[in-house]
Amino acid sequence: MTIYKNLIAGEWVGSDVTKNINPSDTNEVVGLYADGTTEDTKNAIAAAKAAFPAWSRSGIWERHVILKKAGDEIMARKDELGALLAREEGKTLPEAIGETIRASQIFEFFAGEALRLAGEVIPSVRPNIGVEITRDPLGVIGIITPWNFPIAIPAWKIAPALCYGNTVVFKPAELVPACSWAIVDILHRAGLPKGVLNLVMGKGSVVGQAMLDSPDVTGITFTGSTGTGRRVAAASIEHNRKFQLEMGGKNPMVVLDDADLTVAVEAAANSGFFSTGQRCTASSRLIVTEGIHDKFVAALTEKLQTLVVDNAMKPGTHIGPVVDERQLKTDTDYIEIGRKEGAKLAFGGELINRETPGFYLQPTLFTEATNQMRISREEIFGPVVSVIRVKDYEEALSVANDTPFGLSAGIATTSLKHATHFKRNSEAGMVMVNLPTAGVDFHVPFGGRKGSSYGPREQGKYAAEFYTSVKTAYTLA
Ligand code: ADP
Repeated sequence: MTIYKNLIAGEWVGSDVTKNINPSDTNEVVGLYADGTTEDTKNAIAAAKAAFPAWSRSGIWERHVILKKAGDEIMARKDELGALLAREEGKTLPEAIGETIRASQIFEFFAGEALRLAGEVIPSVRPNIGVEITRDPLGVIGIITPWNFPIAIPAWKIAPALCYGNTVVFKPAELVPACSWAIVDILHRAGLPKGVLNLVMGKGSVVGQAMLDSPDVTGITFTGSTGTGRRVAAASIEHNRKFQLEMGGKNPMVVLDDADLTVAVEAAANSGFFSTGQRCTASSRLIVTEGIHDKFVAALTEKLQTLVVDNAMKPGTHIGPVVDERQLKTDTDYIEIGRKEGAKLAFGGELINRETPGFYLQPTLFTEATNQMRISREEIFGPVVSVIRVKDYEEALSVANDTPFGLSAGIATTSLKHATHFKRNSEAGMVMVNLPTAGVDFHVPFGGRKGSSYGPREQGKYAAEFYTSVKTAYTLA
């Protein structure tokens, strides 16, 4: 079997390997991928540091051409890369192809942004002096990504990092190295100079930790768990380093009496269960007013009965497997916790066997949950959703905001007044009206508040806030 290696200083290197296992069929090894060491990480950081001066001064046309080429190749190979993604992560093939298309669009967007780099020229308050405000790249960016979006998250961090003139050391999640290897290979062949983009696959505790410990990493962008996010923050403060964190969510979706029932059920089923509930924007708290509660629960339960849980590659599958055994245990532990806390198991909760051995779990719906239960406060990251009954809109808003997180929030209503009030008063970074809480555009800011996020927004032109440092220059003329 081919061994997919790490890319350090323009060379493919590495001898230790780990197996990439398909969660839809644990007998299938998707590939053998390098397991990087501390030494590899140090070499990658040194290579990125050495490549920075030239790349930071590279022409914007060169950056445009490389990012565009990468975007075009990803789009041309969307079916093949989508299948690779579905096999290594377990989301369904249509979802995986959709994510691959999005990765391509992100590269296309930042290829365009490279040509739109601009600053400001403004007069000084003192005579005969001019002021220019420009953006400099930061230097070496450490990119640490999670397993749930194996191609889109690397794309939305790598593309802006390179676009604004930074060099990169990239560490993907242990469970999903294949898509990361593929996009690094594409960018390498698209003509990136040696050392500008380095890939070090391996363990968080080894490769990730070596990135956190290095004074030569000038910025870290991280998406993952709250616990690791805190480590990134603590280490970064010690090194006076800029950092950006995207962590958990416990996203609410409010359903009001006046909601269109079909719209509400479609949005809730999508938000809660698609991608196996493994999206940080998934909505795991459905906050439903009294008048529609029973109708909504009945219609959602009916919908869940129609959803097929099976191998991600099989046509007709709506929900793929859970990503691995550890996450499956977390999910089933929380189902047990929900039961013990007194929530009513309205649907699912059981493991399922399919033709191929995998981590299959029924979509699981709890009703009669309260917002104080652990299943309503802690991020589960699986297809497990709780319904919380409330009296009216005011109580719904207050329950929606009563959470340590603040990534995305949704409301299903036909009332302009309540939709407008919710958009203004929701304590989340992203608000959705009559839409799932998950599923966002690639050209506008992404991010949250409270325990969900730290630092500037990702994506769209707002990405420049993290990947650059503003410079103010004064000239006496
Ligand atoms: P999850 O529990 O969902 O896997 P993690 O936060 O552990 O979330 O993982 C997100 C990313 O952080 C992964 O790429 C992982 O390897 C990395 N990571 C884990 N531990 C550390 C660490 N100590 N230092 C840096 N990165 C880490």
